[in-house]
Amino acid sequence: MSDFVVIGGGVIGLMLARQLLQGGARVTVLEAGQCGREASWAGGGIVSPLYPWRYSPAVTALASQAQRLFPALCSELLAETGIDPEHQQTGLLMLDAPDAGDALAWAQQQGVPMVRQEADQLASREPQLAVGFASGLWMPQVANVRNPRLLQALLASLRQHPHCRLREFAPVLAVGDGHADLAAGERVTAGQVVVCSGAWSGELLAASGVALPVLPVLGQMLLYRLSPGWLTTMVLHEGRYAIPRRDGHVLVGSTLEQRGFDKTITDEARGALQAAAEAMLPGLRGVAPLRQWAGLRPGAPEGVPFMGRVPGHERLWVCAGHFRNGLVLSPASAQLLADMLLGRTPAIDPAPYRPVKCAPFPLPEA
Ligand SMILES: Cc1cc2nc3c(=O)[nH]c(=O)nc-3n(C[C@H](O)[C@H](O)[C@H](O)COP(=O)(O)OP(=O)(O)OC[C@H]3O[C@@H](n4cnc5c(N)ncnc54)[C@H](O)[C@@H]3O)c2cc1C
Repeated sequence: MSDFVVIGGGVIGLMLARQLLQGGARVTVLEAGQCGREASWAGGGIVSPLYPWRYSPAVTALASQAQRLFPALCSELLAETGIDPEHQQTGLLMLDAPDAGDALAWAQQQGVPMVRQEADQLASREPQLAVGFASGLWMPQVANVRNPRLLQALLASLRQHPHCRLREFAPVLAVGDGHADLAAGERVTAGQVVVCSGAWSGELLAASGVALPVLPVLGQMLLYRLSPGWLTTMVLHEGRYAIPRRDGHVLVGSTLEQRGFDKTITDEARGALQAAAEAMLPGLRGVAPLRQWAGLRPGAPEGVPFMGRVPGHERLWVCAGHFRNGLVLSPASAQLLADMLLGRTPAIDPAPYRPVKCAPFPLPEA
């Protein structure tokens, strides 16, 4: 029997499994499909919340710690597996943010580098940028990570660990104290069970009689192929962004849609994302996107994830609801939950993330 069963092989579940194994535990991961193929694969990989000053201190605390952890984590994964998650500090340029004053005050208070750029400074910051933006906010330390590679590296590392059991195509139908019931009829038992099932976490817990407000929020993305170095920084305007990868791919995201678990991509989203991308980067006009895809973010009220013991249960835990920030928050979330599960003193106060039962919630907008 494992010490821990982790349900869900997205970035949250895999990162948690890694932390628990590093703490000396035996871990089984149960994944409904293939590990790392849902939201964590679909995301953009920005290692920062978009407009970070608009989030609560609970999100900022996790993001700050995770940003410190990412460079060493990616180096360790590269050394262990030969797979490079491509953590690259390109900086983030935010254009015409209406609350720039709040942003600068937040950055000063947090000690985060952020510089206001006037209209005539923008072209030298990013040569591909359209003319006409009035101002920008430049965050030079913001990085992005190639999330599919991060997941491949995490998986490769877990696969070679003698105390890790990865079971794919093992959908869980119901959970309880110290057990998970598979659709195939098998009951898997462990000292503790942790639900890391992303957008499906609310549904899974509801099937076990626990109400937790985690809902799917769809996001669609486009991928372009340009030459390496075509775009040098991440750019963001009115919630739409472009992210350069090292090999010249540029990702453009993303939509925010609530239509249950439907992941169908739409022409409407493609058109809206293309228009937003071309307005920021006119060199994209006439370039056809290479691919379009969609993923289901695990939405929670104000984007604050639920992390901790499930109310009314001794041996059932949850780590879900990371909404738009699961990739950036993952190392810090995993560390916090592992600290709690392994009886260590948490580096971050767990109180703001404690799972609570509450009423249905409005779509977070940040
Ligand atoms: C378009 C888009 C862009 C994004 N961009 C960014 C970004 O730039 N930066 C950032 O930080 N975040 C970003 N995000 C958000 C981020 O991707 C998510 O917050 C994060 O991936 C959530 O990770 P997760 O492990 O909780 O969920 P998932 O990756 O969805 O993993 C959950 C896993 O649980 C499995 N599962 C579900 N139910 C069961 C069951 N009953 N039994 C067994 N397994 C089950 C699923 O199959 C899945 O593999 C983006 C998301 C999207 C969609």
